[in-house]
Amino acid sequence: MGSLDELYREIILDHFKSPHNMGRLPNPTLQGEGTNPLCGDSVTLTLRLEENKIKDIRFDGHGCAISQSSSSMMTDAVLGKSISEIKNLGKSFKSVFGIKDNPEEPVKPMNVEEMGDLAALEGVKKFPVRIKCAILPWNTLLEIIKGK
Ligand code: ZN
Repeated sequence: MGSLDELYREIILDHFKSPHNMGRLPNPTLQGEGTNPLCGDSVTLTLRLEENKIKDIRFDGHGCAISQSSSSMMTDAVLGKSISEIKNLGKSFKSVFGIKDNPEEPVKPMNVEEMGDLAALEGVKKFPVRIKCAILPWNTLLEIIKGK
């Protein structure tokens, strides 16, 4: 039992119990829903895009602690960032779990500073069935901003 594992578990539970940016924006410019039927997780994202940056974002959903805390952490991480920064962040985050949408494409490794609380999810890679839970909000967001 490493103390880092315990710290990470605490960060995940904190986000699960007191999620950041939860709810739905009244006037979103973009929105979308993602589900992970394997676990019963669902996440709905509403966001406001202004000048190619995420000005505001909220998530609404239900499911396991991993999917909901990952959603909460993601909203913190992407707020104020540009579409291209978010796409890169999403790729880096997914690569932590060995997931690459395009195996040919080089992916910048996640840097801890950018990652923030998301670093706490790295341990999920030891539990392959939970990886889908961790990346659900990212896949949902990347799908929403795909054509942007
Ligand atoms: Zn789940």
